[in-house]
Amino acid sequence: MDQATGAIDRQRLRSVMAREDERFARNHPASMALLARARRSMPRGVPMQWMASTYGHPPIFSADGKGAHFRCVDGHRYLDMGLALLVNFGGYAPAPVVSAVTRQLRRGSHFALPAEDAIYVAEELSNRFGLPSWQFTLSATLANAEAIRLARAATGRERILLFDGKYHGHLEQTMQIIVDGETRPEYLGLARDAGASTSIVQFNDLPAVEAMLARDDVACVLTEPAMTLERTFLPEPGFHSGLRTLTRRAGTLLVLDETHTQTQHFGGLTRAWGLEPDIVVLGKSLGGGIPIGAYGMTKHLADVLEAPGGDPIVGYGEGQFVGEPIAELATGGTMFANALSMAAARAALEHVYTEEAYARTHALGARLADGISAIIERRGLSWSVVRLFNRAGYHFSRDLPRNALDQRAAEDQELSDALRIHMLNRGVWEAGGWANPVASVAHTAADIDHYLEVLDEAIGELAVKG
Ligand code: PMP
Repeated sequence: MDQATGAIDRQRLRSVMAREDERFARNHPASMALLARARRSMPRGVPMQWMASTYGHPPIFSADGKGAHFRCVDGHRYLDMGLALLVNFGGYAPAPVVSAVTRQLRRGSHFALPAEDAIYVAEELSNRFGLPSWQFTLSATLANAEAIRLARAATGRERILLFDGKYHGHLEQTMQIIVDGETRPEYLGLARDAGASTSIVQFNDLPAVEAMLARDDVACVLTEPAMTLERTFLPEPGFHSGLRTLTRRAGTLLVLDETHTQTQHFGGLTRAWGLEPDIVVLGKSLGGGIPIGAYGMTKHLADVLEAPGGDPIVGYGEGQFVGEPIAELATGGTMFANALSMAAARAALEHVYTEEAYARTHALGARLADGISAIIERRGLSWSVVRLFNRAGYHFSRDLPRNALDQRAAEDQELSDALRIHMLNRGVWEAGGWANPVASVAHTAADIDHYLEVLDEAIGELAVKG
């Protein structure tokens, strides 16, 4: 990708990378000691495998966090621009959530019964996202799983349509990729035919969507409103209205996964752009750091949940444990909608994710994007800058990618890893090159300026004056 990234000196990049890797190892003796110990009780020394493979360097062990910063066990303090994969959009340990959760813990965390806070959260999400009815899970993955089942039950169809570059959680039917036009399992351990009812096309490609919907077997299109898993690519003008027209015409439901983009705008991009999904999926930041997932649905779909076979469920539970199929949607989990998650989400919505708080992050996001543009220009690089409210980032291509194919053609893993470790060694944490920084409720203008300084320094070491 030397053409796209133009003024990057590869030899220098590799020697900087070696120096920074060495500095990283030297600066994290406590993390490295914990990792060595952890290897004896956990594969690769981590409690969950992708913690070992996501960052391009050994994992560091976390110690504590407050606001937009966290510390590792070696005592280094990081300005966090990735926010624990956006979970901490409200900052680490936001005071209103800490109080609500502490109070609820003392009163009992779970009853396997509804808690009143659930009503507040459902009502508030209805106001924000415009969908009247809500259900709760423990993660966005599980909300997506139920959204897909609901779409299948409501339409009597099986197929789901996704866009290349997506991620909707570790679900068998969405962990699929397209290889030579065929859907294939993305990882080991997935059933060989798990993707038999999954189709994938390129984002922004309405003719491809139309061709797929013509099969008349697509239960739902599941997509993020703007794609955020391989850096960020945005919908082109007319894409969303076209998608909605095509799905309606085909009797296919539209599921918007706003797990990430709920952090971009009050009411998500659904509200920002006036979108009209049948289902919206949320998670991550919703609980202010406490696990929760949610999905909102239209009245029509709420009716399907209330009476899946067309009859209200009067004798609920009849037929359970008798070895016969049950006319009820497959939803639920023991810990779902627990009182602790609901108290956390209520506090986060009421006190942390206010409309004013979002407005503040938008100003910071503009500062971030302007700053990145200025660095790129000053360093003579032909990169493009993406802006999405409080999210901003760069692509190693002159033009912004329209889809995953464009993005992959422009990606530069080596450069991305070098920038990441360079910044990490100077106290700035990014989730990875693939995840663009987001200005959160907890960031200040000084934090954004600091990020820009450290980014400029990293690029300055790697870029050659044109
Ligand atoms: N949807 C999207 C768009 C995501 O980015 C993610 C996680 N990165 C998920 C769903 C799954 O979220 P979780 O792992 O919290 O279930």
